[in-house]
Amino acid sequence: MRDSRLDPLFAEATALPGVGPKVAKALGRLLGPSPTGGEPRVIDLLLHAPTGAIDRRARPKIADLIAGEIATVEVEVERHQPPRSARGPYRIVVADETGAISLVFFKAHGPYLERLLPVGEKRWVSGAPEVFDGSFQIVHPSHVLDAEGLAKLPPVEPTYPLVEGLTHGLIAKLARAALDRLPELPEWQDEAFLAQRGFAGFAASLNALHRPNTPQEVAPEGPALTRLAYDELLANQLALQLVRAHMRRGSGRSSVGDGRMSRAIGAALPFALTGAQARAVEAIRTDLAAPTRMLRLLQGDVGSGKTVVALLAAATVVEAGRQAAIMAPTEILARQHLATLEPLAEAAGMRVAILTGREKGRERTAALQRLAAGEIDLLVGTHALFQDDVVFRDLALAVVDEQHKFGVRQRLALASKGAAVDVLVMTATPIPRTLVLTAFGDMDHSALDEKPPGRAPIDTRLVSLDRLDETIGAIGRAMASGARVYWVCPLVEQSETLDVAAAEDRFAALEEAFPGKVGLVHGRMKGAEKDAAVERFVSGETPVLVATTVIEVGVNVPEATIMVIEHAERFGLAQLHQLRGRVGRGAGRSTCLLLWKGPLGETARARLETLRDTEDGFIIAEKDLELRGEGEVLGSRQSGAAVFRLARIEAHGELVRTAHADAALILSRDPTLSTPRGEALRLLLHLFERDAAVRLLRAG
Ligand code: ADP
Ligand code: MG
Repeated sequence: MRDSRLDPLFAEATALPGVGPKVAKALGRLLGPSPTGGEPRVIDLLLHAPTGAIDRRARPKIADLIAGEIATVEVEVERHQPPRSARGPYRIVVADETGAISLVFFKAHGPYLERLLPVGEKRWVSGAPEVFDGSFQIVHPSHVLDAEGLAKLPPVEPTYPLVEGLTHGLIAKLARAALDRLPELPEWQDEAFLAQRGFAGFAASLNALHRPNTPQEVAPEGPALTRLAYDELLANQLALQLVRAHMRRGSGRSSVGDGRMSRAIGAALPFALTGAQARAVEAIRTDLAAPTRMLRLLQGDVGSGKTVVALLAAATVVEAGRQAAIMAPTEILARQHLATLEPLAEAAGMRVAILTGREKGRERTAALQRLAAGEIDLLVGTHALFQDDVVFRDLALAVVDEQHKFGVRQRLALASKGAAVDVLVMTATPIPRTLVLTAFGDMDHSALDEKPPGRAPIDTRLVSLDRLDETIGAIGRAMASGARVYWVCPLVEQSETLDVAAAEDRFAALEEAFPGKVGLVHGRMKGAEKDAAVERFVSGETPVLVATTVIEVGVNVPEATIMVIEHAERFGLAQLHQLRGRVGRGAGRSTCLLLWKGPLGETARARLETLRDTEDGFIIAEKDLELRGEGEVLGSRQSGAAVFRLARIEAHGELVRTAHADAALILSRDPTLSTPRGEALRLLLHLFERDAAVRLLRAG
């Protein structure tokens, strides 16, 4: 249960004065649904940080005005000059003892201006002066105030990210109203730490953001935002570490294999493990043998050979008489895993089965019975694995492939299918070092930083779409000498329908050029159709496979040596890297053609050039972070990876390590967060909506 002191903050934003249905709708577009899926709330406004500020403190005389620099001047209204033609401007001449300027209004309503600026009266006018015809004018001043109004003018006005229908002034007003609802809260940060960093309290920091006295106060590196970012990073680390502690608590089990199946698999493999693979397997075996629960991240670029590592991990628990499961994010990938693993498992006497959304009826029932009876040793599947009626006899290891596609909740769901299940998550998304802690602070970590030997570099080229015909010609020649080609069509502005249409068009065009040689696979096809298309590509029957990004994750066809990516400028860097990783898996030389359509923006060009110049996933990830910011590198909020509201890894990255250590120290001293500071930290967890972590505390 959330502390009731926080209730005013979690009320819907419509509770604030001035939020009618229209503003509420615009706020919904600006702030998105709350993490719980509902209407935007007061807290969402509070945590909507300004990105800049307008300084209105300057009070020069007219003679001291500088073009373009915002000023607030006290003037006397001299005369009105209504427009001579309908479209002409309405001018009002105002002056002080040092000179005169005109205020300019377009499409103005005369009577309104006469009330706003009565001749002979004094007013304060705020805006950016510009030079026109040799003298200064201010077009549409932002403020026209009397002395009373001036007293209420904020010296510095924060500016916010906006959507249509909202103004900076309105957001600022709402944020200030939200501030007024902020309850008195105890400090959850260490006082000495705050003093050392020059940080103010939570409320004072929020105040500085929404009611700044200087523009510096809203800067990302300024103390206010940094303090709040640290709050968020600490909440995140605490939550991750609480999950980890929960998973580890008590009932871990030791699984020690006798090496019989692992040896058989090793003998059946056509290659030797790389050093990195061997080290990862060793670390996993040690985890499995330990009486605590394993929670390990296996990070390895595309093609680094994670699948074998997963199989050897499974072998260890199967040798110990228990079961293992491998969960993949897509049907295609699950089937591919099965196809790769089955012969090896067979050689080792390991019984493998598959369970996806497609297994239904009698077949499914039979598989579930065998699973419950312990007649299946390794179950490969999709989300279908954590449906309620899937019961293992004794699940000891859950492997989650391509972790970024799943959330923490799903990870926990699979892990709860057995007593003290050990968990191995695998990801091919290269994650910059700075981000590993924020996203995976709760896990041990193995990296496959060594590619299997004998891989030739991929020749990556940027080709203008204007040269499509030439490209098709070149593909034809390559096919004549036996090449296998992926042709990827982009996502069209998030629309699956258009997306499929683009792929179908390209399919039709290529089919015309190469009759009978082209296959098609996209997200709208039925499972069996997809399999058949991939199957015909694997067998070489259709050496060209036109695809949407469904092939992004994991598909392994070593014979494929050409990857064409159409409209490459529309893809993200990480995604391009993943796609390119589908080729260069065999011994032959591979080519990747990035077909782009101009004009290219600077960022798009930088992305494509980075990809052309390197195959190193880590360099690509760092570059991606530089170009886009961490939210998108880690995927969306739903993916379970950390996406922050205030913290920016570019600006606050150095604090991640501190937050990690801080959280560890806090939990070592107060694992149940029950000291006074612990109680305050629970408030912090609620504020940043790490409620699930607080519930784990209660579960004990
Ligand atoms: P990923 O890490 O992308 O999941 P895979 O496990 O699919 O990579 O492996 C990619 C390819 O590399 C597969 O064809 C696999 O058989 C091969 N492979 C894996 N390990 C080695 C190795 N040590 N030596 C040679 N080839 C290997
Ligand atoms: Mg894989």
